[in-house]
Amino acid sequence: MPDGTESESRKLLVRLRDTLAEGGAGQERLDKITHLIASSMLTEVCSIYLFRDDDTLELCATEGLKAESVHQTRLRLGEGLVGRVAKTTQIVNTANAPSERGFRYMPETGEEAYSSFLGVPIQRLGETLGVLVVQSKEAREFSSDEVYALEVVAMVLAEMAELGAFVGDGAALKALHQQPVLFRGTVGQEGTAEGHIWLHEPRVVVTNPVAEDPQAETERLRKAVDDLRVSVDQMLSVAEGGDADHVQVLEAYKMFANSKGWLRRMEEDISRGLSAEAAVEKEQSIARSRMARSTDAYLRERLNDLDDLSNRLLRILTGQGSDTGAEMPDDPILVARNIGPAELLDYGRRLKGVILEEGSVGSHAAIVARALAIPLVVHASNITTEALNGNHVLLDGDQGVVHLRPDENVVKAFRDQMAMQAQAQERYASIRDLPAETLCGRRIALTMNAGLMADLPSLPTSGAEGVGLFRTELQFLVRNKMPKRAELSALYGRVLDAADGQPVVFRTLDIGSDKVLPYMKPNDEPNPALGWRAIRVGLDKPGVLRMQLQALIRAANGRPLSVMFPFIAQMDEFTVARQEIDKAMAREERLGHVLPSELKIGTMLETPSLAFAPQAFFEQVDFVSIGGNDLKQFFFAADRENERVRRRYDTLNVSFLSFLEGIVSRCRTTGTPLSFCGEDAGRPIEALCLAAIGLPSLSMRPASIGPVKHLLRRTNLEELYQVICQARESGVQSVRPAVMEYLAKAAIPSAN
Ligand code: PEP
Ligand code: MG
Repeated sequence: MPDGTESESRKLLVRLRDTLAEGGAGQERLDKITHLIASSMLTEVCSIYLFRDDDTLELCATEGLKAESVHQTRLRLGEGLVGRVAKTTQIVNTANAPSERGFRYMPETGEEAYSSFLGVPIQRLGETLGVLVVQSKEAREFSSDEVYALEVVAMVLAEMAELGAFVGDGAALKALHQQPVLFRGTVGQEGTAEGHIWLHEPRVVVTNPVAEDPQAETERLRKAVDDLRVSVDQMLSVAEGGDADHVQVLEAYKMFANSKGWLRRMEEDISRGLSAEAAVEKEQSIARSRMARSTDAYLRERLNDLDDLSNRLLRILTGQGSDTGAEMPDDPILVARNIGPAELLDYGRRLKGVILEEGSVGSHAAIVARALAIPLVVHASNITTEALNGNHVLLDGDQGVVHLRPDENVVKAFRDQMAMQAQAQERYASIRDLPAETLCGRRIALTMNAGLMADLPSLPTSGAEGVGLFRTELQFLVRNKMPKRAELSALYGRVLDAADGQPVVFRTLDIGSDKVLPYMKPNDEPNPALGWRAIRVGLDKPGVLRMQLQALIRAANGRPLSVMFPFIAQMDEFTVARQEIDKAMAREERLGHVLPSELKIGTMLETPSLAFAPQAFFEQVDFVSIGGNDLKQFFFAADRENERVRRRYDTLNVSFLSFLEGIVSRCRTTGTPLSFCGEDAGRPIEALCLAAIGLPSLSMRPASIGPVKHLLRRTNLEELYQVICQARESGVQSVRPAVMEYLAKAAIPSAN
């Protein structure tokens, strides 16, 4: 567009819109568009390249290159200048294309005659669909106005592609978001599920990318931004003084919402002919591709915030709330970038699975998904862009794999696998009421971990002999304000009712580290996992602990009560915590409340230090429960939340096993009841080895009880212990290979 004015660009967009509105097949439209752009921009060539698969671009329409090359010329991602634009999502603007790095000569197109080259990515919300190119014989760089105009056109093409405007014959003209896609994420919660996608935050659909009246459009945008600012200020005033991360995010929202640069860029987009919605999306797209390229965690976070804010702005502009009128399928598998624990709990067991684009294994949402036993995959990159509401999906939470819109063969294989699992479940159901008694006659107590009322129905069906760990913090995490004593006491009472006489071990509040309450002032700590957490908070600021102890005593209402403290690292912490219970008992008695018929006070063993505590400690405690998740992270100095290291060390490493055996031996000396309640207790091979080295009781998620019991009942633990000892003496690092070999020889199918 040599005169390069904004109104020229607007005219081009209006013509483009009219051309698209004329109808016709996808190919016909693409041909008209290339013709239109070349004639408007006065270039000899305009070409559109679209992806035919993840790695190959295909010339789909051209004005100026040889017609025979359409659908014949193909480039790999990164190949030639076109491939470079697609790969880097960066514009290439050059007066002398043949001298550019990576230029590839394609004789079939006859393009050697063209010197100038301008290529822009066709992308929508960070997803690159292809490349739009103009070329001319005259050796000149394109002006910034021309670059801008082509970018705006590419943006509209991407929008129209999303709406299916270019569907036709051949792989490159396929409809978007219809193909099978495989995602490899990270296991958040094991389990498999088949269902249909339910988007937690459905995408806003922009149906009018082009607008003719820039003034009216700019006013609409400004009004929407004003509304956005008001809503961000409101959110901020509610959140102030609360969770620092949340406040930080809202402050970033505020900064962007007030950013003159952001508004100016969107206004410029509008002046070039885009509608307000398309202008927001254009800037959002640019931010997303920067996000994909950036390795700076802080910058990525902020770009993420801008992305969220853009969605909010789009919702204000389109009036599309989170309720788009779509109906939730009967078998919903939730897809979200991230989700809070309370929101997840609201969906509850209706969900068959959850897939998050971000999230983390230790996030609150993951804790809730685990408590609800809903399969969860986290870090499924790009799933929110690819998945559409109602799409068929297979979720393999055991492998961290998601098959979106799977083809028939995959569905069949997956269903076969699910059928095998169902058969195994039937086998487990048949031994539900039998004890976990081994071939050598040892009986292992199997209990379950819980944290929500929703867990309790699993108690009778799983075959658990009680609740070995009730994580009380979940009740605190899923609310937005501190629960009241009466509420807690009623809830704990219902837990005891549901347990119907079977023991329940309540762990007092374990907050701090990864578990930050939304309504408690967080502390900025350099190392939260080693910081002010769990019992350390309870002892230094005992208000909540006291309230919780009272609630527990009242909930017991004359029934037996077991309480354990998290994260005790030395003897006196237990002694002082225990005194708090004594005081609470005395106070409750004074107030005329019925006291528990029996009170057992134990501790978690989660720090190596406690394994070496004085004998008096082991004599004092009523029971010890090994919190293997934390204990292992401190033993190996490997963060349980960090994907890079969390699987690095094997639980069956001889150092760790010998260390655990030392704890078994100390508890034997003092006759202190001992159990293990970390995630490893629910992994069949690990569970066998823990039992073999002398752990008499294991607490795990309900779904693991069947497989663990099944394996225990078929194993001779004395023999297995010999295998472990021999392997250890032979100088290996982990006893796992020897254990697996033994199980294979004994024809015991391992369920790991
Ligand atoms: C543990 O650390 O093993 C444990 C059971 O506690 P949590 O996972 O709740 O930290
Ligand atoms: Mg722990």
